[in-house]
Amino acid sequence: MVLEQLGKPLTLRDRPEPKPSAGQLLVRVSCCAICRTDLHIVDGELSNPKLPLILGHQIVGRVEGPSRTGSFEIGDRVGVPWLGWTDGDCVYCRSSRENLCDNAKFTGYTIDGGYAEFAVADARFCFQVPDEYADVDLAPLLCAGMLGYRSYRKTGDAQRIGIYGFGNAAHLITQIAVYQKKDIYAFTRPGDKTTQQSARALGAVWAGGSDEMPPAKLDAAIIFAPVGALVPAALRTLAKGGIVVCGGIHMSDIPSFPYVDLWGERVICSVANLTRRDGEEFLEIARRARVKTHTETFPLEEANTALEKFRSGKLTGTAVLVISEF
Ligand SMILES: [Zn+2]
Ligand SMILES: [Zn+2]
Repeated sequence: MVLEQLGKPLTLRDRPEPKPSAGQLLVRVSCCAICRTDLHIVDGELSNPKLPLILGHQIVGRVEGPSRTGSFEIGDRVGVPWLGWTDGDCVYCRSSRENLCDNAKFTGYTIDGGYAEFAVADARFCFQVPDEYADVDLAPLLCAGMLGYRSYRKTGDAQRIGIYGFGNAAHLITQIAVYQKKDIYAFTRPGDKTTQQSARALGAVWAGGSDEMPPAKLDAAIIFAPVGALVPAALRTLAKGGIVVCGGIHMSDIPSFPYVDLWGERVICSVANLTRRDGEEFLEIARRARVKTHTETFPLEEANTALEKFRSGKLTGTAVLVISEF
């Protein structure tokens, strides 16, 4: 399913099987989860995507070749994430911050991704994935989970953590936070009782609308919704020294707010991409915490339907395109 023009639906195309270059795996895609970033790319909200482009950066598949590459062999199950390549050489790469690499390439954005039967991926950036998960359940861990985890880790040893935007990433991170005995305060669209209910069912100690104040001051807040107005709102829920972490790749403008809301060493930061270490750490902790994913599956050719349902908030779980059965 190919994005040929920004703002237009994807088109079903027959393409020749991609050829892996040195160090790359040829992956037969089993399934690929859909991320909000895919919508931002389609809508032209991210600069300079490859066009035409195959979207998709939460790929689970099997290695089809070449015979041995890095730590992978033919037939191995593999996870392909958002961070697809870095130069290994810039000031960021050389200081363990490859997520900020100046020349990084991203799966399903600047290189072709997983809304397809085959993909090629640099073996050094692919993950060995835990056996405990079926392919479909694993796919949402590869971005929502990993990016969410990097956001969560920025909260340090915060005990009371607010989460704004209770979608895929929030569902996964709440399970880890509860496993680590943290208190989660879930903020949803005002009046969204269903989502508040599901947050409580996952173990959130409090759930309410983003226009409400929580019953206690928070040590940290993570914003997964792409809504800039939530930044000053979240800031006002924080105790002194608290942090607001913006976990999305795109956000509407942040309205101005009085300095007194930031005063007291409160911090606002963003989270960009992921490092391979984030991914490995997250998969290990997800396995230990037995993190569960909720998915709604679609065949590949219904990718446009899945994207539309995501856009209009009509999904019942993370949308996953199921491409080959193994
Ligand atoms: Zn993503
Ligand atoms: Zn670099």
